[in-house]
Amino acid sequence: MDDKLMLMIPGPTPVPEQVLRALAKHPIGHRSGDFGKVIAEVTAGLKWLHQTQNDVLTLAASGTGAMEAGIINFLSPGDRVLVGNNGKFGERWAKVCQAYSYAVEEVKAEWGKPLEPEEFRTKLEADTNKEIKAVIVTHSETSTGVLNDLQTISRYVNAHGALMIVDAVTSLGATSVPMDEWGLDVIGSGSQKGFMLPPGLGFVAVSAKAWEAYATAKSPRFYLDLGKYRKETAKNSSPFTPPVNMFFGLQVALQMMQKEGLDAIFARHHRHMRATRAAMKALGLPLFTSDAVGSPAITAVAPVDVDAEQIRSIMRKRFDIALAGGQDHLSGKIFRVGHLGFVSDRDILTAVGALEATLQELGYQNATLGAGTTAAAQVLTQS
Ligand SMILES: *Cc1c(COP(=O)(O)O)cnc(C)c1O
Repeated sequence: MDDKLMLMIPGPTPVPEQVLRALAKHPIGHRSGDFGKVIAEVTAGLKWLHQTQNDVLTLAASGTGAMEAGIINFLSPGDRVLVGNNGKFGERWAKVCQAYSYAVEEVKAEWGKPLEPEEFRTKLEADTNKEIKAVIVTHSETSTGVLNDLQTISRYVNAHGALMIVDAVTSLGATSVPMDEWGLDVIGSGSQKGFMLPPGLGFVAVSAKAWEAYATAKSPRFYLDLGKYRKETAKNSSPFTPPVNMFFGLQVALQMMQKEGLDAIFARHHRHMRATRAAMKALGLPLFTSDAVGSPAITAVAPVDVDAEQIRSIMRKRFDIALAGGQDHLSGKIFRVGHLGFVSDRDILTAVGALEATLQELGYQNATLGAGTTAAAQVLTQS
């Protein structure tokens, strides 16, 4: 049905009416005083969201652009870098490091399993000459729905002295990422994930320690030179023409988030994760990750006796609900339910109900129809 598509993929995510209206406004001059006020307000809002006093810079880029900026501004060719790789995004940051000729060492875990913090500790403690300049970790690994133990890894990185660079693209706005408290040096994220915005903006938060590294870092940079963004943001301006309408949308989205409150936002995402997981269990659909490491942004499911791609196809065609598939070797083996950003309890019940009808259509025998909705409703009403 026209105009009924419901996005339950891990980005782009649904956008509220108020934000859509802000996006539809006439653009204004980006050097005007009025636009300076918008920059000032969104910059304060971004610091609130990152729970930090550090700089948070906004770029016209996707999440990958934000992460590339967050890596290359602080490193030089030949630098040793540890990269956590337990999925598609961890793998990508290793590739960025290779492209810039850093000496990359990966800390790997099987897809669906979390990174092991002790492996980081062992490698960092063995590096008595302090050759490792940075550690890069994907907090919420979207390809598998695993939430890595960033707090513990960061503690080991801080003890060593390397920079802690974080992909928080699907954790920021879904779960607490307290930059200052956890000693995170660089955080990258993107507008189409937890921000309730369309794709288009990338965000990079930078600590004082990272700025020290910036001063001597030698990798080439121009459009992604974060020093330029820092200088202009301090004057409520921007180095290049920013997508002004996206800033209007960001202004409204941050106002909505502040009205809801950080704790309420995180509680909502955790509730939706638990409701989704409870529903899948009640339907006999195996979860791809254990409860202890589930991401509050996305749940991956590895169905047996029923085809993941058929489920996605019926959900899309009959019920106008978009679910994500598996990437790389997980293609066709899992489906992923995004519950990130502008998602309400009703959306979860709708998705679970539609999934049950889909399973019925596919002749699935492993569960009683209604068991998933009952389980999800229990979680939603009890918390
Ligand atoms: C979506 C995503 C990104 C960024 O992807 P872009 O397509 O460049 O916006 C990075 N990391 C994670 C974990 C993501 O989910």
